Amino acid sequence: MRRLGFILIPFLLSTPRPADAQAVVRQSAGITVQADPRLAFPGGLFVVHVTSRRPVGGYLTAVFDGRRVPMFPTRRGSRALVPIPATLSAGEHMMGIEIRTRRGRRRIPVPVTVQPRAYPARSVVIPEPKRALVLQPGVERDGRQVQLLLRTVTPSQQWTGPFKPPVDSPPEYSYGAPTTYVGGSPIESMSDAIYGEYHRGMDYPVAPGTLVQAPAAGTVLLARQNPLTGGTLLLDHGLGVISAFFHLERIEVVEGQSLVGRTPIGIAGETGIASGTHVHWAVYLQGVAVDPRVMESLPEY
Ligand SMILES: [Zn+2]
Repeated sequence: MRRLGFILIPFLLSTPRPADAQAVVRQSAGITVQADPRLAFPGGLFVVHVTSRRPVGGYLTAVFDGRRVPMFPTRRGSRALVPIPATLSAGEHMMGIEIRTRRGRRRIPVPVTVQPRAYPARSVVIPEPKRALVLQPGVERDGRQVQLLLRTVTPSQQWTGPFKPPVDSPPEYSYGAPTTYVGGSPIESMSDAIYGEYHRGMDYPVAPGTLVQAPAAGTVLLARQNPLTGGTLLLDHGLGVISAFFHLERIEVVEGQSLVGRTPIGIAGETGIASGTHVHWAVYLQGVAVDPRVMESLPEY
C-alpha cells in the first residue's frame, strides 16, 4: 500500500545504524541481563541477553509493553529480540525478565530508554477502480488469517547474518507513517487492529517485472492472492521473525518450501489496492511490525 502525498525525510530513509549507546546491564542473584539499546527507537527493537553462572533451570521471557517475548538459547546464554511498536512513546520504559521455574516465578526489572523517532503523517489515495476491493467479502477473514500467521514463533533461527533488502531500489518513506486512506478506510487495521492506521511495511517502488528476493533464509508460511494485499507471501525466518510481502504480480515459491537468502520469490506488481508497482516488505517480531531495515543492521552475536 502506497503513499501519494510525497514527503521526503532523508534521515528516516537512511538505513538505521546502531547508535553508539551502552547496553543496560542488570545483575540479580547470579543472573546478568543486558539490553542492547542501539536499535531502540519506535519501530526498532532491543536485543536482550541473559547469562548466568549456573543453569537457570526455568523458562525465560522478556516482558515489554504488555507483551511476553520468549528467550531462545544461544552459545552464551539466552537471547530475545524485543519489538518496539512504532506507536510507542520515546523515553523511559520498564522491561522485565521473567524466570519461571517449578518453584515459582520472579521478575528482574530492567529500566530501558527508547530514543525518539518521528513518523510524519501521509495520505494514500486508493485508485478509483480498486475501491470496491475493500468491500469484497472475505477481506476481513483474509486479514485475520494473515494476522494469525504473523504471530508464528518457531524455535530455530533460520537466518544467518544481516538481512538484505528484497530489491536493489531504495524505499520511499512509508514504514511507521500514520496513514489516511482516501477511498476506503480502515485499511491497515483490517488485519491488525491493535495499533490503528499506520503503515506496517516499507514500500520499494520498482519497475514492473522486477525480481523480488528473499531477504534471508526462511520457510514459506503463506503464498496466495488476496483481494486487498494482492500477491501475498509470508516467510518464517524463525524465533518469531516473519517477513510479509504484498502486491506481488507472481509468486514463485510454494507453502512449506525452505529458502536460502536471496532466493527469487516472485515478481513485483501492483496487485490488490496498490496504486503503482512496488514491493511492500514488512518484518514482524512476535506479531509487531518493525522497520524491516533493523534486520539489516542487527548486531551479530
Ligand atoms: Zn505498503
